[in-house]
Amino acid sequence: MKKILLITYMLFLCTNLIDVNHSFRGSYIHLTRFADSHNFKLSYSVIKDRAILYKKGLRIHLRPGTDIILINSKAFQLKRVIRKSNGNILIPRSVNNIIKDYFYQDSNLNNELNKENRFNNSRQNFENNKSKKFIIILDAGHGGKDPGCINKKYGVYEKNIVLSVVKYTYRYLKKYLPGAKIILTRKRDYFLTLESRANIANRYMTRNTKGMFISFHVNYSIFNSGSSGVETFYYAPVSYTRSKEKKILNYRLKNISRIYYNNSLNGNNLKIASRMLDIKLSHQSRALAKTLQRNIISSIPYRTKSRGIKRDRFFVLAHTVMPSVLLELGFLSNRRETRLLVRRKYQKYLARGIAKGIKRYAKVYSID
Ligand SMILES: [Zn+2]
Repeated sequence: MKKILLITYMLFLCTNLIDVNHSFRGSYIHLTRFADSHNFKLSYSVIKDRAILYKKGLRIHLRPGTDIILINSKAFQLKRVIRKSNGNILIPRSVNNIIKDYFYQDSNLNNELNKENRFNNSRQNFENNKSKKFIIILDAGHGGKDPGCINKKYGVYEKNIVLSVVKYTYRYLKKYLPGAKIILTRKRDYFLTLESRANIANRYMTRNTKGMFISFHVNYSIFNSGSSGVETFYYAPVSYTRSKEKKILNYRLKNISRIYYNNSLNGNNLKIASRMLDIKLSHQSRALAKTLQRNIISSIPYRTKSRGIKRDRFFVLAHTVMPSVLLELGFLSNRRETRLLVRRKYQKYLARGIAKGIKRYAKVYSID
């Protein structure tokens, strides 16, 4: 993971250093002064050339050269472009009004803070959160002509194991989260392209839903039959500069635009908003991965190795625009684990851990 250099951006209000064009004076305010007046903390990433203002429950992303800001991932159009002058960031004064409208008049601040409190004690019942419907996409890897990995000796196919675990997970989720909608990308043994898996997931997402995508797999190590354990991969954002990933990027932009911005943003603004959202989705994916990994391991009564959580950009992770993870539930190259994985009882342990993890995530993150 590339380390993001975050520098706390401290500026002294030394007017003779500020090179503000006279015609702009009055329309702009220094970001640091703005942050002070609203009691925001300010961090600035040099590499990403992006500033974040934050305080309890609130987060504002902004970037010089653009004319939008994101308040808790919601995009707001500015009348002027955010500028940079002698290393200082100047924001249009109209941001003040936007903030006031958003936080003070609409009492969003109170809502946000209440949400924060709920987050803190995390006792908020998921079922009480009627504002957005939870949609959980369970994706059994492989299928049909694609068996996934195979343990020839025992005649065990990945596609069958994962479908079975998905079905048990579905049953537990019906119990744990009766209000959620649960979608299986495949219910039987048939072939499904990676594109159609992502399309199914994205198709269910609207502005009024909160989704998550979980792909089920088992592992195989050609070199080491001793390899064992469970690992969870989560979405790592695509590179916005690598032309190789342009296709993925366009696919994501199209879906992000529809789902999160109601097609109201376009051009550069959409790209920037999406990029910011991408980072947020990656954070959420990581949180989901962590929760699942922990709950799976603790639900298995036998000694099982936790291989931890890892970043990746598998096709289904890169093409689902929601918190997105891929589970590797054990190794078919490992004799002991293969014999466990075929057992219904063991599959239920896995499924229960996954469902518990999903419930936990839904409780904690259904609020934002
Ligand atoms: Zn697989």
